[in-house]
Amino acid sequence: MPEHADRGIEELLVEVNEVIREIAAKHVVSAGEHWDFLCECSIRGCLEPVSLTLAEYAALRAEGESVLARDHRPARLAMGPAAAPARAA
Ligand SMILES: [Zn+2]
Repeated sequence: MPEHADRGIEELLVEVNEVIREIAAKHVVSAGEHWDFLCECSIRGCLEPVSLTLAEYAALRAEGESVLARDHRPARLAMGPAAAPARAA
């Protein structure tokens, strides 16, 4: 199912960003240093870099937010109401 493929991509991006965070945590020189995370929006193959400090990234995750480039929308909203399947009468 294409929907599942899209969801998989979003989860993969979250995992990639976690790897970036781990690498950054090992190499960060100053707390204000910015790292390029990947946009987790609904656009397939977006991969827009999102520059965040580790503190900013941690704050987003703490609030359950996605890493998003400016004006990009989270995949979970763009996918629409998943709990409303079309019913055959
Ligand atoms: Zn994006």
